[in-house]
Amino acid sequence: MRGGQAIELLGETIPPGSMRRLLWSGGQSFDGSSDQTPVLVINGTGQGPTLCLTGAIHGDELNGIEIVRRVTQDLEPARIRGAVIGIPIVNLQGFRRGSRYLPDRRDLNRHFPGNPNGSAASRIAWSLFDGIIRHCDGLVDVHTGSLNRTNLPQLRADLRDAKVREFVQGFGGMLVLHNPGRPGTLRYAAARAGIPAVTLEAGEPGRLQSAQVREGTAGIVRLLDTLKIVNRVNLLSEARPVYYQSKWVRADHGGILFSLVRLGQIVEAGDVLGTVTDPISNEQNLIYTPVDGRVIGMALNQMVMPGFATFNLGIAASAVPDEALTAPDAAADDRPEE
Ligand SMILES: [Zn+2]
Repeated sequence: MRGGQAIELLGETIPPGSMRRLLWSGGQSFDGSSDQTPVLVINGTGQGPTLCLTGAIHGDELNGIEIVRRVTQDLEPARIRGAVIGIPIVNLQGFRRGSRYLPDRRDLNRHFPGNPNGSAASRIAWSLFDGIIRHCDGLVDVHTGSLNRTNLPQLRADLRDAKVREFVQGFGGMLVLHNPGRPGTLRYAAARAGIPAVTLEAGEPGRLQSAQVREGTAGIVRLLDTLKIVNRVNLLSEARPVYYQSKWVRADHGGILFSLVRLGQIVEAGDVLGTVTDPISNEQNLIYTPVDGRVIGMALNQMVMPGFATFNLGIAASAVPDEALTAPDAAADDRPEE
């Protein structure tokens, strides 16, 4: 609990009841120019937590940039408690090139908490983590599906962590997926440092999608209310999170994938999710769901190889994850994720 006091961030002092637009470079300069990305700090007048919002750690994930912008744009320092720190475009170099990656093809979200003497990615990660994230009492890191995949707006959280479990309840009726998170991600590193953190996934990369942006924004605004940073939404409506375990269904054949379901659809075991057609032999194979569930993520129509993860099914679960259901999956390493 902080607030009602000055925040020292990136060498600047932000007094209570004020807003600052700081610039952070993360040491991302390499040709004499310095790439700087905005860090918006809204420091309230009353006591409360500091919530951090990060977007575009993957430079091509545009929905998060807009979500962070919408959440922070109309926050008035005089009317909030605690503070909000928004970094809409963490990976500015990737963003400029329309790429998920840093210029050296490294994935920034595999290098947290980083190392001041490590690789370029590791130094940028360290600069963000040590310079900004350590000041947070909670973190929402906004992402989208990876290349040619899309996700229903959802939170990914390690629900074995009691602080994280409490944190996700603040988002109201959002869909919550238990996911321990992989080492190197910002969410994982923050949670390890005692900062409750979630990934908010919404939509697909390379696009700005109004429905997904609206839903993601609404979830975070609701969180601001729950944390009593703002007092806007009528909290009388008891919207509760909906919990899922997830299961990826893979294509067993290569070819052209066409989906026969849409994002959010409820399916029953045995239903056909899509077709994969070999364009040379004309042979068609169907992809079935092995379980009852809901389509919470999916590949867009495209050419796929055998083994390609096509549909992510959410299976209703309880808020406290069943360890038996969350045992490490042999295929976890190549599961598409944040
Ligand atoms: Zn991402």
